[in-house]
Formats: sequence, structure tokens, C-alpha cells
Amino acid sequence: MKEPALLQVFQLIEKAEDNLVRLCQDLVRFPTVNPPGRDYQPCVEYIGNRLKNSGFTIEYVRARGTPGDSADYPRFNVIARYETGRQGPCVHFNSHIDVVETGDGWTHDPFAAELIDGKIYGRGTCDMKGGLAASIIAVEALINSGIELRGAIEISGTADEESGGLGGVAYLAEQGYFSKDRVDHVIIPEPLNVDRVCLGHRGVWWAEIETHGRIAHGSMPFLGDCAVRHMGAVIAEFEDKLYPAMAARHTKMPVVPEGAKQSTLNINSIHGGQEEGNDGLPAPCVPDSCRMIIDRRFIVEEQLDEVKNEIKGILASLETSREGFKYEIRDMLEVIPSMTDVNAPVVKATSAAIEDILGKKPDLICSPGTYDQKHIDRIGNLKDCIAYGPGILELAHQPDEYVVVKDMIDSAKVMASAAYKLLMGKTE
Ligand SMILES: [Zn+2]
Repeated sequence: MKEPALLQVFQLIEKAEDNLVRLCQDLVRFPTVNPPGRDYQPCVEYIGNRLKNSGFTIEYVRARGTPGDSADYPRFNVIARYETGRQGPCVHFNSHIDVVETGDGWTHDPFAAELIDGKIYGRGTCDMKGGLAASIIAVEALINSGIELRGAIEISGTADEESGGLGGVAYLAEQGYFSKDRVDHVIIPEPLNVDRVCLGHRGVWWAEIETHGRIAHGSMPFLGDCAVRHMGAVIAEFEDKLYPAMAARHTKMPVVPEGAKQSTLNINSIHGGQEEGNDGLPAPCVPDSCRMIIDRRFIVEEQLDEVKNEIKGILASLETSREGFKYEIRDMLEVIPSMTDVNAPVVKATSAAIEDILGKKPDLICSPGTYDQKHIDRIGNLKDCIAYGPGILELAHQPDEYVVVKDMIDSAKVMASAAYKLLMGKTE
């Protein structure tokens, strides 16, 4: 049911369209490319100055000592908090300010933020400065509407999401910025489409497997032991056993797209024998080492230990069944899956807001890849967290990435409405 008090807020958002476009353009024009992590400081100061004018208290936090933090590329974050002066919960909007490299194939200047036919083009428009701009316009409209809000509203602009979030949300969560004593509900305006609510993401395990052999002359391979053939045996076992086993597992996670609605394994890279890149003919040698990097994505029904043991079991059984098979396996990265309950307050409030504004029931989805929700969940122990924002998922990290202005306006209304319901305790 529509709240009459919100009509005023929606009008303010509609009137702020030019302001929203300019805000998004200004944000995109900071080329906050990561790596290396450029221009974080001017970007967070721009956000801080803007929100200070709207009555927020501003803190800048540099994640000293985190990967990539240096005098040239300091890892700056901004946390802005608005107190209504009345008792109530805190709703937090978290956006990452970093963007990935531009890559080739652009027909627009990636940092000019041109507005053409209702779309703003540029690196980070979709992922996720359009979402950040929409959340700022949403909370400003709520504050300026004169509604007697309760509780507090926070907006953060954070570093390094694209490289794992260690200098951003993970650092802030360790410092207590994402904890139950200051934040109750979190919305991350990542590009998951304007009419969908993202509950979480699958888990990740990256590992490097190395098989060992013995070097010998290539004309007499029987005198050596080929590490690449041993790796071939690993891949054959994956094909015969692992891939079918993973395909047979079903998840309750509503992951999109359809193909990601199960466990997956990508073989990221494989290398054995003589290094690539040498000129001339290769020397004839039996490879004594072969290395493979695997990217295993897993579902909430699986435990990380089981995921690891499944692959380690295949390697161990090859060790007994295959002559000369020697291997090592090294962990590189692990992320536990995260999925917010469908009945959590932030899910209900945002779903109801989407229904009010877009006239349709939202799809509740999970993301195939991870984002900063993992740190809010695991380090901050905040379970009432979703991703919701205006960008189109498939455009993230692409050339000619854009955000649709109408989607930003609609999502700003949804975010304002969801925040209102959460602050006022109207989620039922
Ligand atoms: Zn993103």
C-alpha cells in the first residue's frame, strides 16, 4: 500500500532529475580505476562535501596497510551518518567507488559521462556510481520532505570492491562500522536490475594444483615423467566424476543466470613445461611441473570443507592409482556463500517498495559472483543485507557501459520508500 507521506518524497526525486544526472556524471568523471586504485581521495571528498551540506556527519577512513594502500594510491573510504534525533534503527546504503579498467571497444569517452537519449555512458555508470547517485538523491529527498523520520541513515562510499574489498568494506567492518550497535539494515546499490532484489551470492574457492614429474630428453620421454600427462589425468577425473556430481546438486538459491544455479568449476589457467614467450624453437624436454588454477563456485547447501575435500579426494586417489603421481594443492582465496532470509525486513521493505513503484512483484535472486555483502555478513555479522540498484547486470565491466536515467529515478524512489518503511517500522 502506498504511503501518502511518500508522495511528497517521490515528487522531490522527480524534480531532482537534473541534479541526479549531474551527480552521477561528477562521480563517473573521477577515474577511480582499480587496480591501482586511482583518485579515491578526491572522489570520497566529493561525496563527503555533498552529504555534509545535507546535514550528514562525515568520516574519512583510510585503510592503511591493506593491499595496494600507498602514498600514491591511498585506500580512502567515506562514511556519512544522518541522525534524525528520534529513536529508531539505522539504514545504511553502501556503494563501492572503484571501477574496473576500461578495456577496448568503447565508442564513448569512458570518463566523460555523456548523457545521450536518457542514458549516461561511462565506466562505472552501471557498476555502480549510478546506484550511489540514486541512493544519495533518495535520502536527500527523504530528509527534505519534512517527514518526521526515526533513527539514522548512513551512506558509505568504499574502496576496492572490485579487488575483494579488503581496503573497503572488510576494513570498515573490522573497525566496527558495519556492526549491530550502529547499523540495522544494509542496501548495496549494485547493478542487479531495477526490479530485482538480490539476496546474496555463491561461495568461492580458488586453488592452485601442481603436478610434479621428472625432466628428461624429449626424444626419450620414457626416461622422464611428464607432469602435463599427470595433470591430464586430473582433468579426466574432473570430467568423469566432479562435473557430473556438481551438476546433480540442486540449490534453493535463486541464482541468475540459470546456468549459475548450481556449483561450477572454471579451469582458470593451466601451464606446464617450458615458459611461454621465448623466441625460437623450444628445447625438447619432458615437463617436470604443471600448474592449474581452479575457480570453484559453490552453493549454500555445500560446506567449504566438503568442496575442498571432494577435489583433494580425487587427487589422493590418483596418488594411489596412478604410478608416479605427485601433487601439491595451495589455497588462494575463499569466500563463504551468503544469502539473506526471504522474510528479512530489508527484503520485505524493498520488495514492497518495488511493487508500489514499478507495479510488479520483484524477482528475488542471488548473484553468480560475490560482492561486499560477504564482509557485511561474515565480519560485521549483519544479516539484514541485500543488493538493489538501477544498473543492468549484463552491462557491468563492458565497453560502453551505461545507466538509464529513468532506472535511477525509479530506484531512488524504491530506495527512499524501503528506507522509510524500515526506519518507521512499517515492514509488515
Ligand atoms: Zn560493483
